Formats: sequence, structure tokens, C-alpha cells
Amino acid sequence: MQYISTRGGGEPLSFGEVLLEGLARDGGLAVPAQMPRVDGETLDRWRALTYPQLATEVLALFATDIPRDDLARMTAAAYASFPAEVVPLRPIGDGLTLVGLSEGPTLAFKDMAMQFLGQVLEYALERNGSVLNVLGATSGDTGSAAEHALRGKERIAVFMLSPQGRMSAFQRAQMFSLDDANIHNIAIDGVFDDCQNLVKQLAGDIEFKRAQNLGAVNSINLARITAQVVYYFWAWLRATDAGGPAEVSFTVPSGNFGNILSGLYAKLMGLPIRRLVLATNENNVLDEFFRTGVYRPRSAAETLATSSPSMDISKASNLERFIFELFGRDAQLVVQAWNELDEQGFFDASADQPRFADEFGLVSGTSTHADRIDTIRSVHASAGEIIDPHTADGVKVAREHVEPGVPMLVLETAKPQKFAETIREALGVELEYSDELRAMLDAPQHVTEMADDAQALRAFIEAAALKG
Ligand SMILES: *Cc1c(COP(=O)(O)O)cnc(C)c1O
Repeated sequence: MQYISTRGGGEPLSFGEVLLEGLARDGGLAVPAQMPRVDGETLDRWRALTYPQLATEVLALFATDIPRDDLARMTAAAYASFPAEVVPLRPIGDGLTLVGLSEGPTLAFKDMAMQFLGQVLEYALERNGSVLNVLGATSGDTGSAAEHALRGKERIAVFMLSPQGRMSAFQRAQMFSLDDANIHNIAIDGVFDDCQNLVKQLAGDIEFKRAQNLGAVNSINLARITAQVVYYFWAWLRATDAGGPAEVSFTVPSGNFGNILSGLYAKLMGLPIRRLVLATNENNVLDEFFRTGVYRPRSAAETLATSSPSMDISKASNLERFIFELFGRDAQLVVQAWNELDEQGFFDASADQPRFADEFGLVSGTSTHADRIDTIRSVHASAGEIIDPHTADGVKVAREHVEPGVPMLVLETAKPQKFAETIREALGVELEYSDELRAMLDAPQHVTEMADDAQALRAFIEAAALKG
């Protein structure tokens, strides 16, 4: 399988090459040259597989340059610390079922992809004898998932910037309690956008980037997208009976359009998915797009701080991969749309809007703080389950799209323990923490405080980066 750019430039690359290169050289995103296809017979054969075995089968379709035995070893290692099922399904009534994606070390769905990415990155670096210094900015979930996946890796170091004093106590503890020598937590005196600007400044300096072997593991990372495709297959196999095909729908609490894009890939590969329901919070730039066909990214100042903070986005980096499919994989049209966006601040695909649902199954909805609180309460009352605020956004929007006879699978993107304040507001209860989580919350913290100063950050990285 070769990978091409959504903007048509550059030579096709292998999976391994994309893994280490990140962005396509023309500024576009890497996509499979053709989408792999899976038929009904294969699906039935996959029913007997464990999660790591299924992951090996699905990932082998994308990572054709990695021998299958190596893939099998990596998927086994990636999900070894998860419960036996890895992704459990729990019905909550009214035709809704939760798909448990948050059983990993940081209690959010980003572990699903990041744990595999840690394995495959180390493998690729070993194969070509290089090292990688990951530079990233986080407001919470991404940073902790990356650090827990990459800790202790010999050829990888992590430099993770976070806004000082702006993460929850739980999120801080998840990152700062790590004392691995290859993990560097840097608390910047600023907000998340300041952190992101520092990353852009340093990663945009091509010479510095090359000299320091800098890379990223953000949500446009192709290996993350492909690892997420696996659980759509898994959930479909658990929710349907042999002999199918029976359609199911998924609802996905969304921010950067990474998670739901993986669902779209599963559908384009032939998995019988009826609807992919995109749920946003008050930062509903994507709901607006899917309802109207007009995509108008917002400024940082227009981005609200909500009680489902991991969905607080102003633009959705992965949307370009959908636009590429929408425009029949015509890179010229993608470039045109993005030029239009640069010139006038929006692009207008309203003529194609009916195709979003008809061809791709994509529909959407918005959930607010009040909806979140109501939904946490109602699911607790009817099913005895405590769901996190992001999953609550999903359940709220899912209820608006349930169809008779079609199972509605809602992706559980985090555990409630990560967001205890909102649970307290909704239910008036204090959540129990396991002994392990208690120990993490009480552990000594390791973090370097730094001014919002690119020069200071450069010096820090030069001194601590792994040398290739
Ligand atoms: C990252 C995240 C999301 C959003 O996922 P995208 O892939 O960015 O759309 C939703 N919920 C939680 C808990 C997250 O951490």
C-alpha cells in the first residue's frame, strides 16, 4: 500500500516512510492510494479473533511494508495492559450501546491509537537506526496518552508543552507523575495557543527540526488514524450476528475529526455502517459544516472553554481527508477549496452537502453544558452508569439520530474519573479512585516551568534531545 498527499504533490510513500515523515511535503495529509476493501466472508472470519488479532488483520491492510509477525507482536504488546476484551460494549437502553475505548493507561480513547503508535515508532526507528524527539503541545488528553505510550522507549524522547496552571489536577498528575528520563514536561507561562505557537515556531525552523530530529504524534498522524479503524470493525462484529450484513450506526464525540475519520475509513473499506453521527460541544464548527456545507474555522478567541474540554477546537485538522474523498479524490479541488478558505475565511461545499449523509453517512449535532449535565443524570438514572462529559455529548446527539432496528453505538471517549468536577455538578457524588489512581495523584511531580520564550525552549531541547 502506498500513501499519497491530499494535495497531489510528492512521490507516493510507504507506511513506514509516512510514519517518520509526518506531513506530506506539499502541506497536505497522507492518505492511502486506494482504500483497502474487506468483504463479508472476511468479516465473518474475523468474528473469532481477539482484539490484538483483529488489529493485526486490519493494520496489515495499511502497513504492507511491515511483516505480519512483527505487526502481531506489536499489537499484542500495545493492548497487553488493557482488560481481556480491550474494547467492551455496554448497552444503556433505548437502542444505545457504549463502546468502551477508555480502558487504557490514561482513561481516554487516545490510548487506543497511541499505544500502537509507540510500538510501531520504536520499531521503525530501530529498523533505520535513527532517533525521534517528539515535540508537542497539549491541553490534556493527547499529552498524557503520548507520554504513557512513549515512556521508557530507547529511541524516543518527548518534550510536551502545557499551559501552566490550566490543566485539571488529574491531567497534571497523569503527566507530571512520570519520572522516566525520556519524558520532559514543560509548563509554559501562557495559554494553550502560546504552547502551540512555540511548537509551530520550532518545528517550522527546518534546520533546527532536522538537527534535533524533531517530530510530532498529533491527531493527523496516519498510524493513529489506521489504529482507530480497528475498533469500528471490533464494535460492528460484537453488535451484529454472523451471516449479516446488518448495519449499525456510530456516534462519535468529535474535535479534530480524527476519531470519526477512522470510522469513515472503515465504512469506505466496506464495513456496513449506516450513519456516522458527529457530536460536537458548543465549539460546533463541524456541526455547522455538516448541516450547511459551509466550513468556517474560528479564531482562538472564538473558541470557548467548555466542560468537555478535549473537544474545544476552532478548526479540525483531519477534515481535509474527508474533503479529499468528497471531491472524488481530486487533489486539485482540495487545493482550490483551501485557497478559497485562505482568501475569504470559509469555503462553501453547500452544493455537495446532501452527499455528506447520502454517500458517506455523515450527520451531526451539538450538545451544550446543560445537555451534558442532563445526559449524565439520565444515563445514571436509567442505566446506573456514570459517563464522562464527552461521552455525554455523544449520547445526547445519538438520541436524536436513533433509527428503529439499527443499533446505535456511542464511542466512550473518556472515563468520568478524569472529569470529577462535572460529575459532582451533575450527580452530587464524589467518584471513587482505584489505589493505582490514588498513588498517581499523590506521586511527586516532575515538570520544568518556562517563560513563553522560544529561545529558552530551543536551548532546553538542544541540551536534552536524543542525538541521532
Ligand atoms: C481527543 C478527544 C476527543 C476528540 O477526538 P478527535 O479525534 O479530535 O475528534 C473527544 N473526547 C475525548 C475525551 C478526547 O480526548
